[in-house]
Amino acid sequence: DKFLERAWQWKERYGNIIIEQLKKLGCSCDWERERFTMDPGLSKAVLTAFKILYDNGLIYKDFRMINWCPKCLTTIADIEVEKEEEEGNLWYIDYPIKGEDNYITVATTRPETMLGDTAIAVHPKDKRYKSYIGKTAILPLIGRELPIISDERVDTEFGTGAVKITPAHDPDDYEIGLTYNLKQINIFDDRARINENGQKYMNLDRYECREKVIKDLKTLSLLRKIEKHSLAIGRHDRCKVVIEPRISEQWFVKMEPLTEMAIKVVENHDIEFLPKIGKR
Ligand SMILES: [Zn+2]
Repeated sequence: DKFLERAWQWKERYGNIIIEQLKKLGCSCDWERERFTMDPGLSKAVLTAFKILYDNGLIYKDFRMINWCPKCLTTIADIEVEKEEEEGNLWYIDYPIKGEDNYITVATTRPETMLGDTAIAVHPKDKRYKSYIGKTAILPLIGRELPIISDERVDTEFGTGAVKITPAHDPDDYEIGLTYNLKQINIFDDRARINENGQKYMNLDRYECREKVIKDLKTLSLLRKIEKHSLAIGRHDRCKVVIEPRISEQWFVKMEPLTEMAIKVVENHDIEFLPKIGKR
């Protein structure tokens, strides 16, 4: 409510200036019929439309991976994420195979997220790993058993061709996790500090945790090598803090039935596009 109060104050102070500027720019509008986004009539229309869509089963809640800013503690739209190539590392980590004196090496740009791993994936056509598919790996530092699965989406060119799957902290892994019904283990709190799922790493900041994980892997002789690697890092455009992908419950609108109706009115010529090229 306090926020709305502030929004109205802002509108009263600047709203008219904006209108005057628009007039000066030569905007030719019917100013008698001016409306503001938060006018009661419009707000009511939004609620009414929402209810109609909801009653028709077009609005539903589901889980999706969103951009989370651990500093502002809020969800960030894709357009507010600044992606830039930054220098980083690719860490190669050995995961022991259960019941064998063998291991599978995975490469990752974010070793701290291994605390949330729930599988290892290889490409089904990758000959190097044929014999590994169906076996179980043991997650170092945590001890969790990880199935070794095969999926076409694995990039054989990345690292060793075997990748760790962290469904709660990577958008691609999230999708693979859904396909194979993998557990989603969230290891971060709102401020991107390790939560209780990170066991002895609990309460560490994500970058402190990275250092500690690397140090511990070295001690266990499970860190095979480190390579320089540039990767696209997403930062919040306002505070410049690195975005954390996170699973969150969101509202969705089913678009298929609505697009059908929209296409129909265009095909019926109820709506005409000028120039014609807009029709596509
Ligand atoms: Zn932020």
